[in-house]
Amino acid sequence: MTITDLTNGRWPDLLMQLAGLTPDQLTDKHQPCPLCGGEDRYRFDDLNGTGSWYCNQCGGKDHMGGGGNGMDMLMRRTGLTYPEACKRIEQHLGHRPEPPTKGAEHIWQYGPDFIVCRFPGKRLRPLWWDGSQWLWKAPPAPRPLYNLDALQQRPNAPVLIVEGEKTADAAAKLFPSAVAITWPSGCKAIDKADWAPLIGRNCTLWPDADAPGIQAMDKLQGKLLKLGAAQVRIITPPADVPEGWDLADADWSIAQAAAYLKANRSAPTAPPKPPALAPPAEAKPILDKPSKLETLELLTYLRTTTDNIRFNTFTRQIEINQKSLANKTSYKNQEFRYPYLHL
Ligand SMILES: [Zn+2]
Repeated sequence: MTITDLTNGRWPDLLMQLAGLTPDQLTDKHQPCPLCGGEDRYRFDDLNGTGSWYCNQCGGKDHMGGGGNGMDMLMRRTGLTYPEACKRIEQHLGHRPEPPTKGAEHIWQYGPDFIVCRFPGKRLRPLWWDGSQWLWKAPPAPRPLYNLDALQQRPNAPVLIVEGEKTADAAAKLFPSAVAITWPSGCKAIDKADWAPLIGRNCTLWPDADAPGIQAMDKLQGKLLKLGAAQVRIITPPADVPEGWDLADADWSIAQAAAYLKANRSAPTAPPKPPALAPPAEAKPILDKPSKLETLELLTYLRTTTDNIRFNTFTRQIEINQKSLANKTSYKNQEFRYPYLHL
């Protein structure tokens, strides 16, 4: 939609809201000009919804007298440039302009607010709607994963994680039973992606056949396990392929792809289980006599219990809240911390 289409028929509202004109100044009666004053040199006729007006003193292209349209009035009243005026109008009308993807040979849609464009010469550029304008940058972290929709629509499907959107599209075709995803902006931006949607999922990481790709997936494996992925496996890329080879380069059938995956994946790595939580038998007597506590004994106790213990440094007394924290999910998969322990 062009700005002309967008504004047609809306100029009285736009000029009141954005240029401070009064309802009187938006009528076809002769009156002082909102731009140059006078007594009866101006009128607003809004021909065909264009916001047209006439001032025999300052209207016209040369501002020597003549007509103008709504945009002329808005720009002259506010001092905005044309692009600035367009933006203000779009914001006011809650209109989102089309993303400026002209010239891109391919686009990948992460979501309504985030697109990755490929321009000739394999130049990839992220394009982000920040709520008021399109910016040539990736959104701030945590950034969404590519194919997040599919991930949510198929909550039980295994997840295949590859490097790059083109590769993810190729992987989706070769492994239709899996959800193929990637993250924005390549190997160095792993920490900026939001990996939380992979909690509880079975993940297979397929690195590009180069050192940075393999390192990135190694790092991602650790990250996913820590986060709580159900299991993570890594594929060893073929040995006889060019540097940087990925699934978009594979000339495989679905059956061949599945066979390669099965034969070349690591054993599943499940996240480490937290140690069994059993307080030592002697815990009670120790805690009944806090003044005789040995640091190591207390630490041993703390490591093996989820009791909420508070040690008061000044009175050297210990409070114990026996309420179990074991069922609180926020304590699962977390190291036990000792916030009040200052012996
Ligand atoms: Zn005027």
